[in-house]
Amino acid sequence: MEFTPPFPPQLDPNYSGNNTGIEAYSEEILNQMTTSERTRLAVKLYKKREIEIHDAIKISGLSAEIFASVLRGMNLEVRQMNVLVCGGAGFIGSNFVRHMVTKYPHYKIVNVDKLTYAGNIDNLIDIENRPNYIFYQGDIVDQKFIDEIIVKEKIDSIVNFAAETHVDRSIHIGSREFVMTNTVGVQTLLDATRRHNLFKFVNISTDEVYGSLELGEQRMFTEETAFEPNVPYAAAKAGGDMLCRAYYNTFGVPVIVSHCSNNYGPYQFPEKLIPYLITKALNREQFPIYGDGRYVRDWLFVLDHVKAIDLMLHKGIPGEVYNIGGNNEKSNLEIAKLILQYFGLPESMIKFVPDRPGHDRRYAIDATKIMNELGWYPEHRFEEAIPKTIEWYLHNPEWIAKIKQRNADINEHIK
Ligand code: NAD
Repeated sequence: MEFTPPFPPQLDPNYSGNNTGIEAYSEEILNQMTTSERTRLAVKLYKKREIEIHDAIKISGLSAEIFASVLRGMNLEVRQMNVLVCGGAGFIGSNFVRHMVTKYPHYKIVNVDKLTYAGNIDNLIDIENRPNYIFYQGDIVDQKFIDEIIVKEKIDSIVNFAAETHVDRSIHIGSREFVMTNTVGVQTLLDATRRHNLFKFVNISTDEVYGSLELGEQRMFTEETAFEPNVPYAAAKAGGDMLCRAYYNTFGVPVIVSHCSNNYGPYQFPEKLIPYLITKALNREQFPIYGDGRYVRDWLFVLDHVKAIDLMLHKGIPGEVYNIGGNNEKSNLEIAKLILQYFGLPESMIKFVPDRPGHDRRYAIDATKIMNELGWYPEHRFEEAIPKTIEWYLHNPEWIAKIKQRNADINEHIK
């Protein structure tokens, strides 16, 4: 049936303020309207910039996913968001938080991080006083805490980096924490996204869930590749990713999952290969390399990953999966030689050590989908970004020293 004026409906008679946003429309008034009336009202107020996405979804009474598709259909972009970034004090998370806080000064960026051994609040010292940035220490597994933050900060989207991320620890120290954060934590955030009808949830995952490729094999990981995780870290990440798929299919939770290859760049915890070897070079210590060193990873500069996440948050389609990679395969041995070369050190400093169990031989990502559908491409060439990364660590000795003071045992299992 045609919708007839008056439109918009009368304001709440008990409302005495000037605000024409959601405060002007009581639940009672909204409940008397049809879905189509509510949607048109929400879109109209949104277009007139009287409300932002959070309130527009509420007024429409639609699920966030359907309202987002209405906006897309009308070519309307999201202008403002209150984004909950989980795990924003880690390596990729802190690079993402800095990007969002500076690129979108009108957004509110709320960083929730448990500050495990890998979390480092020093990573964000330069932006911690920005008016659009807030930090809370807390655990993504804690449902009550997450609910409180979402309500208090009027969150409309979540980007989740929070994870236990070091494969070696999942092998040598135990995998319980991995399952808690990487699987149960994701389930907690999915439930919260559903309960609060949030606009979007981007879950950052890894290419490691796809298992291993052979050296020289033509095949690459696509979004259709079946999960075959070989180590507890990857299995726990896959658990979270599977729940994302199930929550989208069962409840329509507007979740996007991304699988990215190995990142490198500033602020990476020095247990990971590149900063680990840089700190070894700085101390003129031997470079321990697992097995024959012919373990191949695809390497992507962290800010290229950050750009992809920004695109997925703004333009990604709920329910979709995106692979992200640099088309830049290098073996661990090649990486070690590059770093030695930078420091003018001899290759004899490489010391092959017994391999780790379940060591995947090779990962390679096909990123065609995100390139074609969201217009993403990597801007940083490895040959230029690697020396810049090394220089960042050279210029930040206090950052390294503080981490080492707190963590005496970095990679102590590599013998
Ligand atoms: P990281 O280890 O540097 O940071 C993880 C952060 O999560 C830390 O700040 C930690 O304190 C926080 N955290 C851990 N458990 C938490 C919990 N229960 N609640 C709240 N915060 C918690 O990791 P990273 O390298 O920045 O990776 C971020 C994400 O990207 C991870 O999900 C990882 O699987 C994924 N990823 C990483 C890479 C890579 O090369 N580093 C590649 C692809 C995908």
